[in-house]
Amino acid sequence: METTNPATNERIDTYEADSADDVDAALDRATDAYADWRDVPMRDRQELLVNAAEILRDRKREFAELMTREMGKPISQAESEVEKCAWGCEHYAEYAEAYLADEYYPSPPGTTAKTQYDPIGPVLAVMPWNYPFWQVFRFAAPSLAAGNVGLLKHASNVPGCALAIEEIFREAGFPEGVFQSLLIPSDLVDDIVEDERVRAATLTGSGPAGRAVAQTAGDQLKPTVLELGGSDPFVVFDDADLDAAAETGALARNLNGGQSCIAAKRFIVHESVAEAFTEKLVDEIEALTVGDPMDEDTDVGPQSSEGAMEHLHEQVEASVEAGATVLAGGEPMDREGAFYPPTVLTDIPANCPADSEELFGPVASVFTVEDEAEAIEKANDTRFGLGASIWTEDRDRGERVAGRIDAGCTFINQLTKSDPRVPFGGVKDSGYGRELSKEGIHEFVNRKTVWIE
Ligand code: NDP
Repeated sequence: METTNPATNERIDTYEADSADDVDAALDRATDAYADWRDVPMRDRQELLVNAAEILRDRKREFAELMTREMGKPISQAESEVEKCAWGCEHYAEYAEAYLADEYYPSPPGTTAKTQYDPIGPVLAVMPWNYPFWQVFRFAAPSLAAGNVGLLKHASNVPGCALAIEEIFREAGFPEGVFQSLLIPSDLVDDIVEDERVRAATLTGSGPAGRAVAQTAGDQLKPTVLELGGSDPFVVFDDADLDAAAETGALARNLNGGQSCIAAKRFIVHESVAEAFTEKLVDEIEALTVGDPMDEDTDVGPQSSEGAMEHLHEQVEASVEAGATVLAGGEPMDREGAFYPPTVLTDIPANCPADSEELFGPVASVFTVEDEAEAIEKANDTRFGLGASIWTEDRDRGERVAGRIDAGCTFINQLTKSDPRVPFGGVKDSGYGRELSKEGIHEFVNRKTVWIE
């Protein structure tokens, strides 16, 4: 496995992929580790999560640089990501016990009926490169806290991150086999999902990858959680604070080079403020610094690879050919590396890529609507349903519209984000199941009813 720095197109490193025998041995180790780990008292598991958080904070810069080298995110955002992973570990260190406490139900006098939350065994996590640390910790912290063991198949362009995460858990004191990274291509994933030693699978990534894993897992009657793409609406009403909306909108579209499932992708703006908002959005976007992701002042780095950038540009070109107008950006940058500039499109015709596909890069699509009903209709006019951001000074309207948008999470006067304290996940083609919070830790447990006479 070779890694390439997308900011320079230079080769970074070569890793030897795991063989089928290596995978088999890892699954055996996971099985053995689970037999003991499930009985480790919660307070000990919590302590190890706190240790992991300390290691993350102590070595923040090192892990951030690793991410930036492998997939190109700006270093300041990479450091924030490491901090967030530490927070995720601490969150479950503090709350896992309460989230997994027995729940009692009505039962005849003299009897007790309760649910207890038992672990289910080794869980496979297939993860993407865009948040190479956070996506993994978001799965691992609750899963390991619940007494499961984890097997990570990370994206092929971030093997260094995969191995670093395994090392963090080992150094934190998690026993051997409780968290393992498998360096394998995606065509070996099916066999692992089918293997009886693996009890469940979770995938964050594209629709085709999610469907492939869910089909195999479904055949084996194994539970899955899928967190797939999104084409999140960012709805701006006529009473919105336009400065705040434009500033946050530019950030929400361009964080992580625009390569985020919950990035604001479709800006749906009331016609009476469309011109003013769009001008402000373009100003904000043009003020972003695009450049070397290792530079602290960079807002937008390269795309994760040349291939990803070319695909994004094809989507922009097809949209422009269909009639869309480019207000900013729109052409790959004339420099070494996979750099694409923050871009704004408007006058977008129906069914062109900017209207109907996910644009996984720094391209904002602006649509104009006449009223609230049309805003809701446009927001829902997508096969995705991950997040949504609604901008209005009228709280009732915000909540009313939030209730009508088909998405797993809606934020009013705030950008869509994942936060360990609240559930995260989607509907429609954005997947199913929830991560984080109490709901996240309950996905991969056996909700066992215990009746005592
Ligand atoms: P993929 O879905 O291809 O990759 C995500 C993970 O799934 C990787 O570990 C990948 O492994 C693995 N994978 C890919 N195909 C299969 C399969 N058939 N069976 C099992 N595992 C598989 O995402 P890409 O990186 O190719 O990005 C493509 C698009 O996916 C983006 O443009 C975006 O739309 C979406 N995406 C969404 C993300 C999100 O956060 N929801 C994150 C990343 C991408 P390998 O790397 O070895 O192929």
